[in-house]
Amino acid sequence: MSAAPVTTVVLHDRFARDLPELALPWQAAAAPDPTLLALNEPLARELGFDAAWLSSPDGLALLVGAAVPDGAVPVAQAYAGHQFGGYTPRLGDGRALLLGELVDADGRMRDLHLKGSGRTPFARGGDGLAAVGPMLREYVISESMFALGIPTTRALAVVATGQPVMRDLVLPGAVLARVASSHLRVGSFQYAAATGDVDLVRRLADHAIARHYPDAAGADRPYLAFFESVVAAQAALVAQWMLVGFIHGVMNTDNMTISGETIDYGPCAFMEAYDPATVYSSIDHSGRYAYGNQPIVAQWNLARLAETLLPLIAEDQPQAIDLAVAALNGFGPAYDAAHSSGMRAKLGLTGAPHDDADLVPDLLAQLQQSRVDYTSFFRQLADAARGDAEPARGWFVDLAAFDRWLSRWRTLAPDPDAMDRVNPVYVPRNHLVEEALAAGTSGDLGPLRELLDATARPFDERPGLERFAAPAPDDFGPYQTFCGT
Ligand code: AMP
Ligand code: MG
Repeated sequence: MSAAPVTTVVLHDRFARDLPELALPWQAAAAPDPTLLALNEPLARELGFDAAWLSSPDGLALLVGAAVPDGAVPVAQAYAGHQFGGYTPRLGDGRALLLGELVDADGRMRDLHLKGSGRTPFARGGDGLAAVGPMLREYVISESMFALGIPTTRALAVVATGQPVMRDLVLPGAVLARVASSHLRVGSFQYAAATGDVDLVRRLADHAIARHYPDAAGADRPYLAFFESVVAAQAALVAQWMLVGFIHGVMNTDNMTISGETIDYGPCAFMEAYDPATVYSSIDHSGRYAYGNQPIVAQWNLARLAETLLPLIAEDQPQAIDLAVAALNGFGPAYDAAHSSGMRAKLGLTGAPHDDADLVPDLLAQLQQSRVDYTSFFRQLADAARGDAEPARGWFVDLAAFDRWLSRWRTLAPDPDAMDRVNPVYVPRNHLVEEALAAGTSGDLGPLRELLDATARPFDERPGLERFAAPAPDDFGPYQTFCGT
């Protein structure tokens, strides 16, 4: 490792010190020719970095892990995970490193983490590398999620390494620098529990409580309160995904955070035509992670977390199970409450709750029947509230049924301006993401910048950006996403 870079940002090693069993000190692979592809300047400032410095050779050395500040201890984190339902006891950061934690301008502790930084002892058969396309993909989609107000890891930068990566084709390699409130996963707890060392699970839980849920520490049963907090955070998160039509695509337990932030953007995509069965990932053959399955899968993953916490929840194990099951059963009502209040907001129903219980199910059934573009529809529905229903009506095959729905909805006095504040115009549409990644991979960053610009202000309709609001053209065909491996 070369000399320490000139930055005043301090990288702490709290995770590595608290949990050495889960932290393997490691160093990034050399990047032959680092070139900056994308830098998130507002985020850089929030973290205390000077953006000009980060773009300099010293800054790039930090962003690829070649040089870290004195005292930093980069580690590969250990975790296990259920992948598509099958358990793998040892996953871990095969191609990623936690550089350390930093304290941001608001005093919050944030992880600085690299993805694509070379093989680690957790790499199994992998090469430890990442291609430019998938790293830009995580950048654009995670930043879009942030702009939509959805808890997520953030993208700080993508740096091309100059190292070719062998996939189906030879592709340019890149490292993504990302920031998270932590990288603790359900799989981190599964790994700790599988060692049989209850004290390790307790230290991990204490670390997670201190970082994310400090109130739980004062509860009668701190570890139960901790679990309840994670259940609540995930129920709220998945409701937000559903409300914007986000499909994560690979909700393995190693890709589910304890913090409630969205993490590990691989084969994710935004749904266009509304259909709960929508799956884009090429490896999700059974549709386990289809759009409509996401709430139940989240609850399944939380059950795996509960199992790891049972020895901490109560000494008497049957009692611990009863308590954990009751907490887990809180997921459904919490999710339903978040989803229905979000749907009311999308429909502009800002007044007292109405008693038309079928209003939302009826609408969703019609959206599915007519394969309506989910994102466009809610903006067009605001126009209907303003008096022009034609754009929204244009989608439906059973117009009479939609007209009946419209008149029920209108009696509830929807507020179109409130709708426009929660229904995005611009989401990273699949055809535009693919176009931007293809151009970025061959060195043209223009389309990526335009897409980032549109999606950074998702609710703010702007002339000239019509292309970014429109569904994929018919000739785009059926869409498939691939894991970024
Ligand atoms: P992901 O699909 O990115 O969530 O990764 C799942 C697991 O596979 C994690 O343990 C990763 O570290 C590992 N992995 C994915 N791609 C690679 C790669 N190219 N080299 C080494 N490990 C990888
Ligand atoms: Mg992952």
